[in-house]
Amino acid sequence: MNNSFEFLSLVLDSITDHIVVIDETGEIQYVNKSWIAFGSNNACLIDYDWRGVNYINECDKASALGDEFATHAGSGIRNVISKKEENFYLEYPCHSPAEKRWFMMRISSFQILGDNYFVISHQNITERKLAEDEVKKQARLDGLTQISNRRTFDNFLHEEWRRCYRLKKTICLAILDLDNFKLLNDDYGHQYGDDCLIRVGELLKEFANRPGDICARYGGEEFVLVWGDTSLAQAKQLSDQLLHKITELNIQNINSPTEDYLTASIGLAEMVPNSKNGEIELIGKADSMLYKAKDSGRNKVES
Ligand code: GH3
Ligand code: MG
Ligand code: MG
Repeated sequence: MNNSFEFLSLVLDSITDHIVVIDETGEIQYVNKSWIAFGSNNACLIDYDWRGVNYINECDKASALGDEFATHAGSGIRNVISKKEENFYLEYPCHSPAEKRWFMMRISSFQILGDNYFVISHQNITERKLAEDEVKKQARLDGLTQISNRRTFDNFLHEEWRRCYRLKKTICLAILDLDNFKLLNDDYGHQYGDDCLIRVGELLKEFANRPGDICARYGGEEFVLVWGDTSLAQAKQLSDQLLHKITELNIQNINSPTEDYLTASIGLAEMVPNSKNGEIELIGKADSMLYKAKDSGRNKVES
């Protein structure tokens, strides 16, 4: 090892980040202990015996094989060496068969005896990434039922509407409202009501399987289902099955004038998107069908 790097190893070997030091040509001058330990067990951007290796060339090789992160890393390092950029950092995945992992690569320059060197560190940021992913996921979900929330539904319907418009396909929307749910809450308590909503949410997931489908909690005891590229006849069949499955949950609702168990009503509508209509109309149609289902006795689908 170059004597100049001996003092560096005192500092860098005690750091858990994986660190490599390169010169202005990209040739590796030093790696810390953590790098060696990691490299011997893993096959990512930072796995190879470092002696005589040019780091930038390694990035270019990986880039040629289609690794887009290596492409970014290579150009970022070059920019810092040529002083085009002062700093560069890159977050990249480095998953092993056993676990998902992410790293953050950072490069910064320093001088020893008038020569320029560059420290490239790879910090494990998996915990932060997982936390960020969880926050993003929770923002899309309804807190109680853990199915999509209304905002996610609105965005999805908008996108699916446009997709069906391009493909000239039918899109169906079902609005489902639990029957006499206020009575159920009054008789059995709010917690019991919450558990019912969770179970209905679970059931709904079975009815939204394709990429053009979504189930969501619309609010309170109302749920929605979108079936893209689906005919009204198919959607009616699915809706009937869904209502049947809700009755099969056999959730007691003793004072309900409909049945003495939990039932639901569905308003179903279909449209073929064109340049004059919009998804608001589809929601309006399904909503008026829901009123019809409620008015004509509940526990049924109107379309
Ligand atoms: P209908 O058959 O006409 O739909 O009658 P309903 O009683 O279901 O309708 P209504 O709109 O009168 O009452 C809805 C009830 O849903 C009242 C409200 O307390 C209950 N509800 C709404 N959100 C929640 C929730 O998050 N948890 C629980 N437990 N109950 C809820
Ligand atoms: Mg309601
Ligand atoms: Mg209701």
